[in-house]
Amino acid sequence: MGLKLFNTLSRSVQDFAPLDPAGKKVGMYCCGPTVYDFAHIGNWRTFVFGDLVRRYLEFKGYTVTHVMNITDVEDKIIKRVRETKTSLREFTGKYEAAFFEDLKTLNCLLPHHTPHATGHIAEIISLIEKLIAHGIAYQAADGSVYFSIEKYRGGGGTYGQLLKLNFDELRAGERVKSDEYAKESAADFALWKARVPEDGDVFWPSPWGEGRPGWHIECSAMSMKILGPGFDLHLGGEDLIFPHHEDEIAQSEGATGKPFVKHWLHGAHLLVEGKKMSKSLGNFFTLRDLLAKGFTGREIRYSLLTAHYRETFNFTLEGLQGARAALARIDECLGKLREAAGAPASGPARTGPQKILQPAGSETGAPNKLLASFTDALDDDLNISAAWGTVFEWVRETNRRLAENSLNAADASSALTAWDKIDSVLGVGAAIGFEIPVEMNLLLEARQAARKAKDFKRADAIRDELKAKGWVIEDTPKGPKLKKI
Ligand code: AMP
Ligand code: ZN
Repeated sequence: MGLKLFNTLSRSVQDFAPLDPAGKKVGMYCCGPTVYDFAHIGNWRTFVFGDLVRRYLEFKGYTVTHVMNITDVEDKIIKRVRETKTSLREFTGKYEAAFFEDLKTLNCLLPHHTPHATGHIAEIISLIEKLIAHGIAYQAADGSVYFSIEKYRGGGGTYGQLLKLNFDELRAGERVKSDEYAKESAADFALWKARVPEDGDVFWPSPWGEGRPGWHIECSAMSMKILGPGFDLHLGGEDLIFPHHEDEIAQSEGATGKPFVKHWLHGAHLLVEGKKMSKSLGNFFTLRDLLAKGFTGREIRYSLLTAHYRETFNFTLEGLQGARAALARIDECLGKLREAAGAPASGPARTGPQKILQPAGSETGAPNKLLASFTDALDDDLNISAAWGTVFEWVRETNRRLAENSLNAADASSALTAWDKIDSVLGVGAAIGFEIPVEMNLLLEARQAARKAKDFKRADAIRDELKAKGWVIEDTPKGPKLKKI
């Protein structure tokens, strides 16, 4: 079975087939962060979902060009720049740096291109010029340039491809200047916003006077510059369907006359404890808030990857505890497999996908079975719950075989190789083997030294200290090992 994905454009699950005639290259654009604050756990659900899509396409053998823009000028940013009395660059730079740090913490692959809106003003202007030349954009009396929905539709364009709109309610000539608005207030939207005093120093010269771009045109300009007028995949959270993505389609197809994006993928939202996140409810978490509570990036990533991307995900701190327990089960199994394979149990993580060495056979069948059912699950519109089901089934089976000593070193090595391949998609195992902090290893060594010197009091004190820090010592035939409580 090939990969099938739900396409918001057709509102159905479709076979994924890239535009590339060779069926190899995939262009993928994910709407990136608006850098006006630290990204919250809801934002991270969507970015981790984007990372999963990219990793899975690569696992399937596609060569992906992954683009994620940085929105560094729009309404909310300008408001904050004004309030904080900083410069645009100083303000956005801080949150952009935090975003990239967080991306790493969650083990998301760095997109190949991370274009900035402020670095693409020339491209944005030339796109608006095209729309004006085609008669579907106009400068209004307020000096701003708007996209004319009526002219676009009159010329054969379809406005409302991702979402059904009631055009009887749309009053011709009405305009909306703010970047965010509901479908009930659908109207001609701003492409270029004429400078107003509240913009402060944030403006650029243009053929229509000083001003700044609207948010929607930024993504059209950057995606088409890097991926061409038509590309394979465009991702974002479901809140972006309207107006952001609908406007992107109208601007891009209005300018090029070509279909813009083949597959639109939207991730459902995340709730916290069943409610929409809000600072006043006290259920608003940035990634950093969760790290400060003692959770790791790996646990948070795992948790965000447990629900199907089209289902609303209810994030809870209890769920994060569950993530910790689930990862511990995987780690324990991998540790035992490493031992059985003759590798150090807490040795460095094996990196990158590797080829499966053995064909399916009675002893080596399990890894191949794992890969086959994992692939079946994710081919089915990224059915991640089924994919985890196969992983834990494999953990159970592997533990059983390890317990009855029916895995030889080659089987164990083959199982680890399969896991590496699985983990090239899940991205939760990168830290395995590096998980024991240096400080704990030094304590373990100190305990060994104390025992050797027959200073059992000190050895016990170190053991208690380790325990207080969340680590127990397990004595194995190969010597003492640290294990997380
Ligand atoms: P922003 O930085 O506000 O532009 O949002 C970045 C991404 O996060 C967008 O793709 C949004 O759709 C997505 N997003 C915002 N809130 C949530 C949420 N509660 N759950 C999932 N995704 C979200
Ligand atoms: Zn966008």
